Amino acid sequence: MKTRLGQNFLVDKNITRKIAASADILPSDTIIEIGPGNGILTEEIGNISKKVIAIEIDKTLTNNLSVKFENNNNIIIINKDFLRWTPPRIKKLKFVANLPYYISSAIIGKILHLDNWDTAVLMVQKEVAERLKALPGTDDYGILSIACQVFCTVEKIFDVSNTCFFPKPKVTSTVVKLKRLSKPLIKKTNEKRFFKIVKSAFAHRRKTILNSLSMELDINKTIIQKKLLEANISPFCRAETVSIASFIKLTNVLSIPKK
Ligand code: SAM
Repeated sequence: MKTRLGQNFLVDKNITRKIAASADILPSDTIIEIGPGNGILTEEIGNISKKVIAIEIDKTLTNNLSVKFENNNNIIIINKDFLRWTPPRIKKLKFVANLPYYISSAIIGKILHLDNWDTAVLMVQKEVAERLKALPGTDDYGILSIACQVFCTVEKIFDVSNTCFFPKPKVTSTVVKLKRLSKPLIKKTNEKRFFKIVKSAFAHRRKTILNSLSMELDINKTIIQKKLLEANISPFCRAETVSIASFIKLTNVLSIPKK
């Protein structure tokens, strides 16, 4: 068992059944599973979908899975790092995974930037789930919440106790369901600027949004203050109180240096 690869395997079939049921899988669906491990979840989703493409980084696990599923023609096992793998251009892909927690944010970031998926049911660390669905004015609200909610809706499905895994992780887990919006909240052409502004606003959480943006973007405070007011944002508030809609308004009025 390689803990550095986040190998905490599910041992409770009730949980795999509940995860599969949450993904609203149709018999015609192609499912991407990230990190199939021993294949407990793979088997469940393989029984109800047209095709499962399971991407596992660990060579030994991949070999075991190829043997386990040699008679299941609809289950394809690929030995790759998910972050370096290009998903097929099939429409309406679904992602189902008990994620390796050490790279869960990077994996979610990769999924969010794809345009050919509709649902992702993912098990993550409880604290990550809280951040994904957090609203403005809460401690958990930040860049991850905004990055996620710009592209999809987030629903908490259920918590999973650490006793459902072997070896037992130190943390509680949560299954979340992401549904991709038919149209992201931010235009593709404004995406880069929007995220630069959001990251700059959150760069100094204890400072006002005015100071944080001015420092990070290297723009005169008078200009930033004017643009914040144009976007109906108080210059003296902190980034964690600003809604996504307000960050979008700010992106529409504030030009930033190209760097
Ligand atoms: N799905 C199995 C289960 O529920 O029991 C295993 C889940 S375990 C939390 C995470 C799995 O992701 C491990 O099998 C690990 O080897 C694999 N993994 C870790 N990093 C990965 C990566 N970059 N790409 C693909 N798989 C990865």
